[in-house]
Amino acid sequence: MAVRVCPHCKTEISAPEAAARSNDILCPKCGTRLEVAPGSRTISTLAGLAAGAIAWRLSIGSTSDLGGVLPTLYAFLAFGIVSPLVLMVTANLRNAPAVPVPEPAHASSPGAHGAGGHGGAHH
Ligand SMILES: [Zn+2]
Repeated sequence: MAVRVCPHCKTEISAPEAAARSNDILCPKCGTRLEVAPGSRTISTLAGLAAGAIAWRLSIGSTSDLGGVLPTLYAFLAFGIVSPLVLMVTANLRNAPAVPVPEPAHASSPGAHGAGGHGGAHH
């Protein structure tokens, strides 16, 4: 099992919490913004796709009146079940990138776009 702890205060983050809110997790103790590392999400997605493919292959071999629909349904269900499960197991937390703070000076003159250009201008 991967360790899902806050990098700051080592508070444990519950697996369902990490899986459900992988983009924006707040540490319950120190309030640090966390996110699931991209690698974990890639692994869970690939595992979900693999499970979907396996379910599709298995169900497409069965002779059924609903043969045209079931493989897709099974593949969808397999992906939807396996992917979050794998994410729960593999998820590692890291600090989320800092939220860009709008600069007050820039907000005061919304029409002007001369000095400093736009985007990542910093002092
Ligand atoms: Zn913390």
